[in-house]
Amino acid sequence: MSTSNLHEFIQIDAAQLVTQAIAALERAYAPYSGYPVGAAVLGDDGRVYAGCNIENAVYPLTICAERVAITKAISEGAQHILAVAVATANGGTPCGSCRQVMREFGAPTMPVFIARSDGSYRQRTLEELLPEGFSAADLTEK
Ligand SMILES: [Zn+2]
Repeated sequence: MSTSNLHEFIQIDAAQLVTQAIAALERAYAPYSGYPVGAAVLGDDGRVYAGCNIENAVYPLTICAERVAITKAISEGAQHILAVAVATANGGTPCGSCRQVMREFGAPTMPVFIARSDGSYRQRTLEELLPEGFSAADLTEK
């Protein structure tokens, strides 16, 4: 588990994550909801991965900005995520599906920065957003 020790040396820059989430918001493809969302995820490889919501005429195929960013991080080699920023015009929070996907790759203590497009943000932990969340550990605990 050599990578787990690396986490401790990666600094979480909330302002930078929020800035990148807002930049991703501008790339959202949201013609149906009219609700653009941007996200930025800090991976345990020290890189930041951005995502935007990408909707589809077949509505259930729509994917949220947070899950785009997380799947990018994991597919590019990160094994865990250390922080998430999500940006919307009105400071909306991540949906339940995204909270569960965050739990797959992030610790309950992971900070989640919930931003407005004006740059203001509030900070929560994943545990606050997903109390008593189900995770891989529940599959093995007796
Ligand atoms: Zn979502």
